[in-house]
Amino acid sequence: MTTGAAFEEPDPADVAAIQARRRAVLERIAAAAQRAGRDPADVRLVAVSKTVPAQRLRAAVAAGLTVLGENRVQEGEAKRPLVPGATWELIGPLQSNKVRRALETYDVIQSVDSVDLAGRLDRLIEESGGSRIRLPVLLQVNVDDDPAKAGFAPAGLEAGLGAILDASHLRVDGLMTVGRFVDEAEAARPTFRRLRALGERLRTADGRLGPALSMGMSADFEVAIEEGATIVRVGRAVFGARPTP
Ligand SMILES: *Cc1c(COP(=O)(O)O)cnc(C)c1O
Repeated sequence: MTTGAAFEEPDPADVAAIQARRRAVLERIAAAAQRAGRDPADVRLVAVSKTVPAQRLRAAVAAGLTVLGENRVQEGEAKRPLVPGATWELIGPLQSNKVRRALETYDVIQSVDSVDLAGRLDRLIEESGGSRIRLPVLLQVNVDDDPAKAGFAPAGLEAGLGAILDASHLRVDGLMTVGRFVDEAEAARPTFRRLRALGERLRTADGRLGPALSMGMSADFEVAIEEGATIVRVGRAVFGARPTP
C-alpha cells in the first residue's frame, strides 16, 4: 500500500491494534445504520488524526483508514507528505490567510463557514488555473447557536446559500456540524435532527446543495447515523485517547 522506501515501516503491532479498533467502529456504524433502516455503505468514516504522529498514521493507512481528518491546516500540511496513500479532509477553522495552503493539502474542506471563505476558495482555484475543477466542500452550520462554535447561523446560511452554490469551482456536497460536547450520546440527537431538517429544507429551496450530512464523533456517532449522518468524524474511538493539551 505505501511505497515505504523513504519511511520507517509501520509497526505491525500498531497496525493490528488500529485494525481491531477500525473493525469495531465499522461494526457499530453498520449496526446503527441497520437500526435506522439505512445501508451502512452510505456512511463514510473519516478518521480524525489530529495529534496522531505520522508514523502511527502510516499504520492507520495500512490498517485501512485511508481518509484522515485534521482540524488545523498546518498539522495536515506537515503530516501529509509523510503519510502516502491517504486523502485529507479539513474539519477545523480555515482563516483567510491560510486558504492557499489548505488548497495544497486538503482534498475536501468540511469547514466552510462563510460566504467570503467560499468566494475566496473559488477565486484561488480559478487563479491557480483551475487544475482542480471543483473542490468538494461542506458548509459548517452552528445549529445550536452555540457562541463557542464556528459555523453559519441557519438563517445566515439560508441567505448566503445561492451565492455559494454559484461558485463554479466548488462542489457543495452538503452540511457539517460540530455538536455540543455531550456526556450522553442521546443529548446530541436534537442537534443532529436539526441539521438534517435544515439540509432537507435548503435542498428543497435549491437542489444544487448536495445531500451529505457530516455529524457525529466518537461519543455520539451512532445517534448521528440514526439521524441521517452520511459522514462521521471519529478520532478517539479509532486512535485512542488524545494527549491532554
Ligand atoms: C476532534 C474532532 C472530531 C473527533 O472527535 P473524537 O471525539 O476524537 O471522535 C470530530 N470533529 C471535529 C471537528 C473535531 O475537531
